[in-house]
Amino acid sequence: MDFTFTPEQEVYRGKLRASLEKNSAEAFGRKGDGPSSSTANQLDVLDDRRWSQLLDYHRRLYRDGIVALHWPKEWGGGGASMIEQAIYQDEALRLGLPLYGANQLAIDRIGPTLMHLGTEEQKKRHLHKMLTGEQIWCQGYSEPNAGSDLAGLQTRAVLDGDTFVVNGQKVWTSLAHRADWQVLLVRTDPSAPKHKGISYLLVDMHSPGITVRPLVQITGDAGFNEVFYDNVRVPKENLVGELNAGWQVSIATLMYERVSGGTRHPVERTIGELIDLAKTVEFQGVPATSHPYVRQKLAQFATEGRCLRLSRYRSLTSQLKGKLPGVESSFGKLFGSELNLRVAMFADEMLGPYGALAPGSLGAVEGGRWMNRTLAARAFTIAAGSSEIQHNIIGERVLKLPKG
Ligand SMILES: Cc1cc2nc3c(=O)[nH]c(=O)nc-3n(C[C@H](O)[C@H](O)[C@H](O)COP(=O)(O)OP(=O)(O)OC[C@H]3O[C@@H](n4cnc5c(N)ncnc54)[C@H](O)[C@@H]3O)c2cc1C
Repeated sequence: MDFTFTPEQEVYRGKLRASLEKNSAEAFGRKGDGPSSSTANQLDVLDDRRWSQLLDYHRRLYRDGIVALHWPKEWGGGGASMIEQAIYQDEALRLGLPLYGANQLAIDRIGPTLMHLGTEEQKKRHLHKMLTGEQIWCQGYSEPNAGSDLAGLQTRAVLDGDTFVVNGQKVWTSLAHRADWQVLLVRTDPSAPKHKGISYLLVDMHSPGITVRPLVQITGDAGFNEVFYDNVRVPKENLVGELNAGWQVSIATLMYERVSGGTRHPVERTIGELIDLAKTVEFQGVPATSHPYVRQKLAQFATEGRCLRLSRYRSLTSQLKGKLPGVESSFGKLFGSELNLRVAMFADEMLGPYGALAPGSLGAVEGGRWMNRTLAARAFTIAAGSSEIQHNIIGERVLKLPKG
């Protein structure tokens, strides 16, 4: 397998790198300093100031025509080849930048779902505004009693003339407090088997009857939300796909989510930062980089980070040969999120008691960011299907183990 890029592809890389470095420096104030190198794309951790910087960054990417390289030109995207997309991902992750500006959900999964399954009217109304950032989107799937078992959802929508009337509750909705629109899974036929009575709606988040309540996370940030629906009226033309066939539409969205989920972590960058950290601290009374345990750990992480990237290239090669992304998206998601967690936890181990100091505390190393990362890293192992669920998928589909 040849992992080298052609001279033309390296020229393309150079142009992208220049654009990303310039835009991020202008929007975020410091060269290559994205929202957070360990939580790029974890948009919900941003306060108001960082959010407006991110919107600014988004508009710059849009102006340079790189906010949605993978979208077809017909819909305002870059029409980039898969190799060009891989180069873009490498460069954005290297800088710790979110792949799709401020509109991650819209650009990586909701927009592509609409392109395939939406009506012409829905495409015209939403796709362009996703790119410009005029419509920020969130995803209303999970409920208090429906997460891994998503098909158990209970939020109801009843057709009343030309509108659905929605009642119920969603939870863990990232960005709901920033969003203008939402994709919402609702139960439209309670008498049907659970996968068959679900519909997929596009909901204006400014509609009367919607209440958004932020949830405070273990890091102290409030980016998740509970969302309540009290007789919310949604026009019938906002249904995507057939009535009661929303499960298939949601699977399409989830497939896009898992495909990007494995590649979303700038984990190699975080490993580089861990190595830099090791050069500045002591471990058990000696410089950390001269301690054999630390050296072994760093080498192991660097190897695993590289394996993850090469594994992504391997998946890309199979897609270039016309194969659909398969179970490797589960592998990438599982391995990337668990590696990210192990790296953050090792930083805490290396820092000893200093690792427990929160940002702002006297003596906190590097502003306390490693403790924050350890707390935040757990989220990646849950979002987009928990590690246990990814193990189940790999066990059943790759190892052909009997269903649990
Ligand atoms: C960072 C982040 C962002 C998120 N953003 C959104 C969002 O924008 N919109 C949205 O709708 N949801 C979102 N979620 C919710 C996410 O999809 C759910 O948390 C996830 O699907 C797990 O569901 P749950 O929390 O209900 O846990 P549960 O499904 O109740 O699981 C609890 C535990 O049981 C385990 N478990 C469950 N079933 C099995 C099984 N069959 N076999 C083995 N173990 C099992 C799980 O792995 C977990 O450890 C987000 C979550 C996170 C962490």
